[in-house]
Amino acid sequence: MAETGDALARAWALCYLDPVAARIAGHEVAASPGPDSAWGWWHVALAEIRAGTPEASALALARARTAFGAAAPAQAALGMTMCDEIQAIALRRGGDVAGCKDLLDTIDRQTPDPADGGLSPECDALRRFIGHNSRAITHKLLGNVDDGLRHFYAAADAAAASGNAGARLTALSNLGGYHQDLFNLDDALGISEQALAEALAAASPPLIGTTCSNLVIIHHALGQADRAFEKARFLVEHPDALMPGAIDRLRTQIALGHLAVGKVEAAQRWLSEGASAQIADGDGAVPWAWVQAQVSLAQGNPAHASAVAAPLLRDTARARASTPYDLMQLLRAQAQACEQLGDLASALAHTRSAQSLYEELVGRSARARHRALQVRHELSRAESERDQARRSQLSAEADRARLAELNSTLQAKIAEIEDLHRELREQALRDPLTGLHNRRYLFESGPGLLELARRNERPLVVAVLDLDHFKLINDTFGHQAGDAVLRRFAHLLHQVLRKSDVIIRHGGEEFVALMPEITAEGAAAVLARLQEACHERTPSPGGRPLPTCSFSAGLAVFPRQGQTLDQLLVRADRALYSAKHHGRGRIERAPATGFSSLE
Ligand code: GH3
Ligand code: MG
Ligand code: MG
Repeated sequence: MAETGDALARAWALCYLDPVAARIAGHEVAASPGPDSAWGWWHVALAEIRAGTPEASALALARARTAFGAAAPAQAALGMTMCDEIQAIALRRGGDVAGCKDLLDTIDRQTPDPADGGLSPECDALRRFIGHNSRAITHKLLGNVDDGLRHFYAAADAAAASGNAGARLTALSNLGGYHQDLFNLDDALGISEQALAEALAAASPPLIGTTCSNLVIIHHALGQADRAFEKARFLVEHPDALMPGAIDRLRTQIALGHLAVGKVEAAQRWLSEGASAQIADGDGAVPWAWVQAQVSLAQGNPAHASAVAAPLLRDTARARASTPYDLMQLLRAQAQACEQLGDLASALAHTRSAQSLYEELVGRSARARHRALQVRHELSRAESERDQARRSQLSAEADRARLAELNSTLQAKIAEIEDLHRELREQALRDPLTGLHNRRYLFESGPGLLELARRNERPLVVAVLDLDHFKLINDTFGHQAGDAVLRRFAHLLHQVLRKSDVIIRHGGEEFVALMPEITAEGAAAVLARLQEACHERTPSPGGRPLPTCSFSAGLAVFPRQGQTLDQLLVRADRALYSAKHHGRGRIERAPATGFSSLE
C-alpha cells in the first residue's frame, strides 16, 4: 500500500510536469488492487490526453469511471466529476469547443462539495487548477477575454496554493501565451521568460518547448531578432529537453527565428520538411503560411508568397479562427507580395485590413494590461477570503452559510470588475462631454493613419481647431451653455467631416481632425462649410437658441509639412496661432516651406 501511495503522489506531482512519467506512475497505481486504482486510471487518462492518443485516454477514462463507481459515495461523486473534466479536455482537443463549454457548465452546476472527496489540500488545489485552466482555455478559444483572463489568473493562484511545480509552470506558460494573444507583449515577455527559466530548472519537456517557441514569436514581434534566433537555436540544439516529436510541431517558430536574422535558406528548410504536418494542423496553418510567405519574399519570389497566403485568406472560417496577430502578419505578407507583383489595388486592400487588425491589437494590448492588473488584485483578495472560510468550514456548519455568502460576494465582485472594465475601456478612449475620441486615441490611431498615407503616397491633413472667445460665452451665458456649445460643435464636426476622418477633442475648446486622402485646399473648403454651419442659430433643448460661436483653425499637410504626428501638430498649431492673430474666424495653412529636420 505504501508503494501505491508513493506512486500516486508521484503521479500527482508529475501530471503537468512530465506526462510520460506520470502515465507510468498512473499505470503502477492502477495495477494495484484497492481504492487508489481509480485515481491511477484517472492519471493515465489525463496523461494520455496530454501526451498520448485520444483513444488510449478514452479507454483509461472508462476504467476510471468503473472503479470510481465502486467507491464510497462522496469519493465516487468527486471522481466522476474529475472524469468529466478530462472528458471536457478531450472534447476541446477534438475541436468541439461548444460541447466542451456545455459539459463544463454542467459540471459547475452539479459539482459536489470537493471537501468531502477525500483529497488532501494540495491535491484539492490542483483539482481547482485543472478546472480553472480548462475553463480559461475554453473561454480563450471562444473569444471571451474577460472570462479567459479571470480563469487564467485563478488557475495561477490555485497552482501556487497546490505547491505543484508542473501546475505553476503550466499556469505561467498559459498566462504568458494569452497575454501574447492579446498583444500585451510586455507582460507576455516577462511571464514567458519566468516560465521558461522555471521549466528549465524543473526539466519539464512540454513546457520548455511551448514557452521557448512562444518567446521566439514575442521577440520577433518586438523586433528583437537576435533573441528570437537564440531561442530558436536552443530548440534545435536541445531536442532531448523536449517532448518526443515536439521539434516537428515547432518548425514554424524555429524557421521564424532563423528568418529574423536573415538565415533564409535555413528557415526554408525548417518549413519545407514539416510542411504537410503543419498545414494539416488547424492552429498551425496560418502561422506557417505567414512565415513561409515572408521567407518567399526574402527569397525574391513574391508569386510563391502570394500562392501560399491567398488560399488561407480566402478560407474565411480558418482565417477567422486564427489569432488577429497571425492574420495581420499574413495580410502584410500578402500586401507586400501583391505590391511586388504590380497588383496595387489588392496590395492596398490587404494593407488596409492589416492596419485595422493592428489598431485592434494595440487597443487590446492597452486594455489587457490594465484588466490583468485589476483582475489579479481583486481575485487574490476575494479568493484568499474564500479559502480562509473553506478551512474553517471543516469545523463549523455555521461557516457554510458564510462561505456561500463570500462565494456570491466573489461572483458579485467579479461582475463588478467586469462592468468597471467595460466602463474604463470606453472612458480611456472617449471624452464624456462630447462623445468624441480623446487625446489618447489620437496618439493610438494617428501613427497608423500616417503609415498608411506614407505607404500609399497619399496626403493627410492635420487640422487644429479652437473656438473663438469661448471664455466670453461661459462668462456671459454660463458654463452649462458653454458645454452645450461644445456638444453642438462636436455634432457639427461629425456631420460636416468625412466618416473616415478621425475627430478628437484635444483639450477644453480645442479639437483636432486627422483627414486622410484630402488636399489642403479640400480640407480648407470642408472647414469653411463647418464655419457656415456654426453661424446658424440652433435651439437648445430648453427652447432658447444657443449662442453662436466661430472658430479659428490651422492646417498642416503630410508629408510636406511634417513626417510625424508631433511635427504636424506643431505646424498646425502655429497656423492656428496666426489665424487667431489675424482676427479669428479664419482657417490658415502652415507655410509651404517643407519640413526642416533642424527644427
Ligand atoms: P481665444 O479665441 O483666443 O482662444 O479665446 P478663448 O476664450 O476661446 O480661449 P481661452 O483659452 O482664453 O479660454 C478657453 C475657455 O474655455 C476657458 C475655460 O474655462 C473654457 N472651458 C474649457 N473646457 C470647458 C468645458 O468643458 N466646458 C465649458 N463650458 N468651458 C470650458
Ligand atoms: Mg479659444
Ligand atoms: Mg484654447
